[in-house]
Amino acid sequence: MAKLSEYERKRDFSKTPEPAGGKAKRNIFVVQKHDASHLHYDFRLEAEGVLKSWAIPKGPSENPEDKRLAVMVEDHPLDYADFEGAIPEGQYGAGTVEIWDNGEYENMRTIPMSKSIEDGKIEIKLKGKKLKGNFALIRTKFGGKGKNWLFFRMKD
Ligand code: MN
Repeated sequence: MAKLSEYERKRDFSKTPEPAGGKAKRNIFVVQKHDASHLHYDFRLEAEGVLKSWAIPKGPSENPEDKRLAVMVEDHPLDYADFEGAIPEGQYGAGTVEIWDNGEYENMRTIPMSKSIEDGKIEIKLKGKKLKGNFALIRTKFGGKGKNWLFFRMKD
């Protein structure tokens, strides 16, 4: 799948236990705590047959005042939503990955998620174990070559 070419290029599947593909799931999200060279949280959202992915250095916050930088990274395969384990030394993203939260999400906008991503404005209701409620991901105009987004809880 062309969407996953960057993901595949960065990894040697004979050396990393990370998944290479995956079958269709339904509107799921996952937050993975990734203790790599810098601890961060990876937020992944099922859309367009892959997991659209952002690295959130400080992790998600439940406080609407707390807008967290979320850097868009390469699409990941759907099976990555279940991945936990250790990525070996010398491999891309070496370190441990654990699932911090997961569940289903609802698209709060009336347009398809692919269009929301293109627009740089995502509004979703998260139905996780930790994250519950309406959250937004908004692409910022500053820095990061269009990869910088803000992740935050929307005011009720
Ligand atoms: Mn990561």
